[in-house]
Amino acid sequence: MSVLDPHAVLQLQDVHKLFGDNHVLKGVDLEVASHEVVVVIGASGSGKSTLMRTINLIEQVDDGRILLSGDDITDPRADVDKVRSRIGVVFQHFNLFPHMRVIDNVTLAARRVHKIPAADARARGVDLLTRFGLGDKVDDYPDRLSGGQQQRVAIVRAILTDPELLLLDEITSALDPQLVGEVLDLVRSLKDAGSTILMATHEMSFARGVADRIVFMHQGRILEQGSPEEILDHPREEATREFLSRVM
Ligand code: ADP
Ligand code: MG
Repeated sequence: MSVLDPHAVLQLQDVHKLFGDNHVLKGVDLEVASHEVVVVIGASGSGKSTLMRTINLIEQVDDGRILLSGDDITDPRADVDKVRSRIGVVFQHFNLFPHMRVIDNVTLAARRVHKIPAADARARGVDLLTRFGLGDKVDDYPDRLSGGQQQRVAIVRAILTDPELLLLDEITSALDPQLVGEVLDLVRSLKDAGSTILMATHEMSFARGVADRIVFMHQGRILEQGSPEEILDHPREEATREFLSRVM
C-alpha cells in the first residue's frame, strides 16, 4: 500500500465492488490531489460509473476503503448525508426538477442540507449563473433551456456550496454535439478556478487539454495512468491501444 499523501482529497484503497457474482471493481487504488483534474477513460462497462457511485456512497464497497480529505467515508459509522454534502455530482442525464425554477434547483441543497439562508443562497446562485452565461435563465423553468444550458445549471448546482470534490460522470454524453463545447468550457473554467475534479468522459481532445492525469479503466481495474501524453500518445498496454484506436 502506498504512503498516504496528506494533501489528497480522495484516496481509494483496494476498492472492490460486486453485483452478484459480477466483480465490477477489482481492487482500485486511486488518489486525487487538491486542485487536480483526473479524467477516467475506458470502454463502456469497464466500471467508471460504479467507481463514481461508490465515492458518492450510492453503492457500498465490498472491500477496501475510500478516504475523503483523510476521512474514511466507507466506515459504516460515516454520516452518508454529510459525506454527500461535501461532494458535488453531475451525471449524464440532467436531473433538474422540472417543476422548480432554475434558481430554486440550484439553491435547493444549499438551503435544505447546508442550511444556508435563502437570500444568501440566491445571491450566490445568481452570481454563478451569471458568471457562466445563464444570468437570463435564473427564473426560467428547466424545459425552457437547451440540454447544454440544463447541464450547466446542474454544474452550478453542484458547485454552489464549494464541494471538496466534483464528480462528473459523462456529463456531455447525452448532448447534441454542438452543445458539448459550452459544457466543457465550463469545466475548464472550474479547473482554472482550482476545483478538484474526477471526471469520466469520452471526449478525448478535452481530456488531453484539461486532464492533469488520465486513468484508463479496463475490466474493473486501473490498467494504466499517467499524463495525457503518456496515456494517449504512448500507451504501454495493448488494451489501452485497442481502446484508443476505437475512440480517437
Ligand atoms: P461504465 O460506466 O464504465 O460503462 P459501469 O460502472 O456502468 O461501467 O458498469 C460496470 C459493470 O457493472 C457492468 O457490467 C454493469 O452491467 C454492472 N452494473 C453497474 N451497475 C449495476 C447495478 N446497479 N446492478 C447490477 N450491475 C450493475
Ligand atoms: Mg458509465
